[in-house]
Amino acid sequence: MPELSVPELLDLDRRHVWHPYGPMPGRQEPLVVESASGVRLRLADGSGELVDGMSSWWSAIHGYNHPVLNEAAREQLGRMSHVMFGGLTHEPAVRLAKHLVDMSPDGLEHVFLADSGSVSVEVAVKMCLQYWRSLGRPGKQRLLTWRGGYHGDTWQPMSVCDPQGGMHELWTGVLQRQVFADPPPVEYEESYADHLRSLIERHADELAAVIVEPVVQGAGGMRFHSPAYLRVLREACDAHDVLLVFDEIATGFGRTGALFAAEHAAVTPDVMCLGKALTGGYLTLAATLCTSRVADGISRGEVPVLAHGPTFMGNPLAAAVACASIELLLGQDWLAEVKRIEAGLREGLAPAAKLPGVREVRVLGAIGVVQLDHSVDMKAATGAAVREGVWLRPFRDLIYTMPPYVTGNADLARIANAVCAAAREG
Ligand SMILES: *Cc1c(COP(=O)(O)O)cnc(C)c1O
Repeated sequence: MPELSVPELLDLDRRHVWHPYGPMPGRQEPLVVESASGVRLRLADGSGELVDGMSSWWSAIHGYNHPVLNEAAREQLGRMSHVMFGGLTHEPAVRLAKHLVDMSPDGLEHVFLADSGSVSVEVAVKMCLQYWRSLGRPGKQRLLTWRGGYHGDTWQPMSVCDPQGGMHELWTGVLQRQVFADPPPVEYEESYADHLRSLIERHADELAAVIVEPVVQGAGGMRFHSPAYLRVLREACDAHDVLLVFDEIATGFGRTGALFAAEHAAVTPDVMCLGKALTGGYLTLAATLCTSRVADGISRGEVPVLAHGPTFMGNPLAAAVACASIELLLGQDWLAEVKRIEAGLREGLAPAAKLPGVREVRVLGAIGVVQLDHSVDMKAATGAAVREGVWLRPFRDLIYTMPPYVTGNADLARIANAVCAAAREG
């Protein structure tokens, strides 16, 4: 097939290729990216480069085309791209598991490698349900979460996504009916803590687990909450025989100013999901970590195995890049970089608070959010950002950025400027 011109490519894309949350044929014309390097995306239409304000959905924390990650991939490619994980093992997966156990909250000892965040949540749910089944309590099979969350697009994760913002209406009667608490307030409120406690107590007999995104709710609405609620959940779960799952797929690897958001509350969950930044944005890989209590419970059951085994489980190429990405992160003062970005976003986004149509500006770690009082006009907002030389992807009433940690101060100012421009025009 000869090389495609940009118009040919766009035409084929529109006719044949599904995009995230898109109709078919596509209605919005995507930008064609030819290559990416550092924090810049190079467009194929000759119009130049955009500074990336999205880290490709929170994942590319070290930027693109990074020499260390490239070398890790190249080196692993020379050995093997993949081998099956049933009956075989290899150094990249073992080293990665050791890294994850060492760096995650104390008590998380066992690692299940999966191919995407959603699958890692499926595995987490399966672990929790099977744990109680093994202990002779098969009635414990529902999940509790708070509203405003997002946990992925496969069935179990969908059932705990925010029922209003998600697609629940479309799937009434199909999705498992879970228990929903009100959305967590920003600040600690004892009445909300009581609300959580009483729901957990009331549903204890049927609850397998509580699953939440700690400290930051991402794709469900980009909201922050007091870490103290995580301790409330930990205590209530312990008191009523319910497991606690933290979905750190978006928050893991430093984004909120702690390596994992659980650290803000010094809480260890029973199960933790990781993804997105795990491979520094290079390849799809996710992980479900659990404690020895959960693993032992499953392994002492009537069916003493975890019946899950994706074809590409433990993919060596992805695991090798993940190891390199983690070593790169831990080998630098990542916290100083995240704090620098936090300060830059606070300063750069402050003017947005005074714009008409802006409800709130909030910043935490390397996350900057401008919430409007209306739905974003996607075309106008993205267009305004592109004119400022920046790539943003707003959703609902939110214009936000989570830049790569390597974003320099000038580029950061540019991103903040673009968020303000998008808020003005979107
Ligand atoms: C992105 C995300 C997921 C889903 O991960 P995928 O890799 O897209 O399947 C789950 N939970 C949270 C918190 C996420 O941000």
